Amino acid sequence: MADTLIVGGGSAGSVLAERLSADPAHSVRLLEAGPLWTSTETVPAELLDAAVLPIGPEVEWLWRYPVTLADDPPVPASIVRGKVIGGSGAVNGCYFVRATAADFAAWSRRLGGCAEWSFDAVLPVYRRIERDSDFGEQPWHSSSGPIPVQRSAVPSSVSAAFTAACLAAGFAEVPDLNAPTAGDGVGAVPCNCYQGRRISSALGYLLPALDRPNLNVAGGTYVTRIRFDGSRAVGVDYVRDGELGTEWADRIVLSAGAIESAALLLRSGIGDPDRLRALGIPVVHAAGVGTGFSDHLEIGLDYVLDADYASDAAESPAVALESVLEVGDIEIRPYAMSFTPGVRRLGVGLMRPHSSGVLRLRTADPADAPVLEHHYLTEERDRARLRAAVPIAAGLLRRMNARPLASIPERGDLDAWLYANLDTLQHLSGTCRMGLENDPAAVVDERCRVYGVTGLSIVDLSVVPVPLGRGPQATVLMIAEKAAAYLAT
Ligand SMILES: Cc1cc2nc3c(=O)[nH]c(=O)nc-3n(C[C@H](O)[C@H](O)[C@H](O)COP(=O)(O)OP(=O)(O)OC[C@H]3O[C@@H](n4cnc5c(N)ncnc54)[C@H](O)[C@@H]3O)c2cc1C
Repeated sequence: MADTLIVGGGSAGSVLAERLSADPAHSVRLLEAGPLWTSTETVPAELLDAAVLPIGPEVEWLWRYPVTLADDPPVPASIVRGKVIGGSGAVNGCYFVRATAADFAAWSRRLGGCAEWSFDAVLPVYRRIERDSDFGEQPWHSSSGPIPVQRSAVPSSVSAAFTAACLAAGFAEVPDLNAPTAGDGVGAVPCNCYQGRRISSALGYLLPALDRPNLNVAGGTYVTRIRFDGSRAVGVDYVRDGELGTEWADRIVLSAGAIESAALLLRSGIGDPDRLRALGIPVVHAAGVGTGFSDHLEIGLDYVLDADYASDAAESPAVALESVLEVGDIEIRPYAMSFTPGVRRLGVGLMRPHSSGVLRLRTADPADAPVLEHHYLTEERDRARLRAAVPIAAGLLRRMNARPLASIPERGDLDAWLYANLDTLQHLSGTCRMGLENDPAAVVDERCRVYGVTGLSIVDLSVVPVPLGRGPQATVLMIAEKAAAYLAT
């Protein structure tokens, strides 16, 4: 029986398993639903190549979910998550930007001013993760952590043209988007890649630790339910190769990601009591699981480049996104790779949306994917921010001599246009939020322990209590590093 059983070997779970098993006296069991590769040499080339997103319709290492992004008119879509050791970090875009001081000020406020999640408290943890080859010597960086971080040395011509357009439009240049003082402006995206390889936390943390005798990892193992003895979590049920089984542990940690950790809690009886009873699930504890999640939304401006950039089609950028423009809670993203041949995309990301989503179970059957409703654009504040931001992006396209595929209305019914071009950045967070015990929306405490039960923690993007102003990957690794320190004491 393990001291700690971790469900999910994704971005957070891989960090946690390595950190906890660094103590030889502590035994760690990690169960991952997707395949486990035990060395970099055996990882499929597609997963290593930082220049492609390995999320095509043919690949098997994904969870796929139908979602409803908006309600009126309905905008159906489909999202994916990594179902593989390394999780979504094994299939993602390698953008590795830290959340901002303002995000942690908001996070701390949700905890009544608790300093544990202040920017000063998390900065050393962000540093511990990285090996930054551009700014490693700066006091806010490190050059010795497990995850290599670098920016494109020679940006593709589309990224260079975007940066030039931003500067010509009067935006500042931000040399280091991960500097604590980085404000608005255009800058090169720090990426977790090295020599063209995507370095997930599985590669940077977990795989080098696999020969530890106190670390035991199983792939192909789908955890279906948490077992409780009264209100104490004591084990999990799983399916492996079609066989059902149970494993017991002193402590269970869910690192199954913001969708599956929440679904597991609900299936195990932690959630809204009325809904659980309606599905025939015995209630263990009442909690606001799945309500009020956040996800970065994107408005996509598709365009083609004029003749002077035509040669760009032959370029192969090192990563999907080499530069971004930050304008408050808006992130403008000039994708360096084409998702449709000949067509490029400039994304307008709303990073701190006020509209929030809901995750709920369809049935109690673990084989049924949960229902995900984003409720994007329900808040007028969000629509107003985008109405103001889209013309900025359109102006940058004009400066790049790019031609939008569809005309962007200057005024009038811009809202209908927003709905027609609505997408998601797939950064879903906050399904099991951290907060004070008297906060009805809080599911975990400031040390990631689930309220109302013992022996159960959540360590992944589920716990983030506020929208983050930047993409979540660097932050989910930071959460896991920080939680590992709590769980080790
Ligand atoms: C296509 C794509 C591109 C992205 N690009 C970026 C980017 O460039 N930059 C950025 O900042 N963010 C990006 N993101 C988001 C970011 O990668 C994720 O938010 C982050 O990796 C989530 O980490 P996590 O540990 O919470 O979950 P995950 O990394 O998803 O890990 C969850 C793990 O748990 C396993 N699991 C789930 N359920 C079970 C179960 N019941 N039993 C056993 N195992 C289970 C899964 O298989 C998975 O391995 C992207 C996401 C996607 C999908």
